[in-house]
Amino acid sequence: MHTSTLYDIPVSNHGARVRYLLYKKGLENDVQIQSPGKLGGLKSPEYTGLNPQGKMPLLVDDEFAVWEADAICRHILDKHATGPSFLPATLEARSTSEMLCRLHDAYIGPIQGAMYRAPPGVFGKFISRRAAIDELLEQLKVAESLAHPTGPYLTGPDVSLADATLMPTMVFFLHILPKYAESAPAPTAEPLDAAAGALGPRLLKWWVHMSQVDAEAMRVIEELKGGLDKWDEQGRWDTLLGAGVRDAEPPTIFDMILSGKIPSEIVYEDDVAIAFKDIAPAAPTHCLVIPRRRDGLSGLGAATGEHAGVLGHLMVVAAQVAKEQGLEDFRVVTNCGPSAGQTVPHIHLHVIGGRDLTWPPG
Ligand code: 5GP
Repeated sequence: MHTSTLYDIPVSNHGARVRYLLYKKGLENDVQIQSPGKLGGLKSPEYTGLNPQGKMPLLVDDEFAVWEADAICRHILDKHATGPSFLPATLEARSTSEMLCRLHDAYIGPIQGAMYRAPPGVFGKFISRRAAIDELLEQLKVAESLAHPTGPYLTGPDVSLADATLMPTMVFFLHILPKYAESAPAPTAEPLDAAAGALGPRLLKWWVHMSQVDAEAMRVIEELKGGLDKWDEQGRWDTLLGAGVRDAEPPTIFDMILSGKIPSEIVYEDDVAIAFKDIAPAAPTHCLVIPRRRDGLSGLGAATGEHAGVLGHLMVVAAQVAKEQGLEDFRVVTNCGPSAGQTVPHIHLHVIGGRDLTWPPG
């Protein structure tokens, strides 16, 4: 007889963490799994009455609601002693499991949407999708450094919450990250081929165990893949910068300035932008501010929500350059298209000043 209900859908990686626990502990007769649709959807009053965050997964145990995958897992482990305890035998392994769970929930979870969601608000504190994805790859390296050298589980011989937590997200990584390779990915690449690029030897070894040996993990992986395959069929990646929309325009003279092949008088630089003096100044002070990565921004007309962070940053840099150049009054211009005077198809802000500027411009 079911005493609890887990509200969840197969493509949710957080819910998959709980499903793995349920399958592994043989609790399918105790906990039924239902779609949040049964309660009218995630934002329905009935659902938010139980989980004010309006997110999946949600466990309703008798009348008591528990939300957040980690809390749900711990609730289930506390309540049901049957099956594996998910607590490894040694203190070291238990603490490593905790670190991996925190790494996942604090550093991966908040930006995992950068792999598959449209903006706004999916890059966390990062300026662009690419920067968020680079951070995800960095976090994978940290996980690699924590993983047990011989396994087969992440912390050694015993399964732990770390395995339940990282395994579903790994399905996302392996399915999606190859789509962000600089050149278009080979559509037929086997997941393990892709894994070989993104994972270090320890995680790879662990992944072989989870995806080819551990029956309950294999079941969850199949459930998740089913959801991700549907995203593929629905063309989910076609409008995401890097995954589908790629910068196929030829390089410009600014790429040669960026690489140093052509000398320029650089007045400002950071990770995202550089500013340099215009070779043919239209005023006593004339600098250009450009993003290091064009990422499709051949001109302002190509801007999408993907570029909001970078465009905001360019404006802040323009203000800083003007200040550093001693300009109190100045003009910032971006020409878009040949008839507006654009000659270089890599977005740039002109920062102009040092003389009276007339209006309207020609
Ligand atoms: P646009 O006409 O596209 O709005 O602006 C392009 C700007 O790039 C022009 O003002 C032009 O003078 C500047 N520019 C073109 N080639 C070079 C170069 O090799 N070095 C520098 N510093 N500026 C350049």
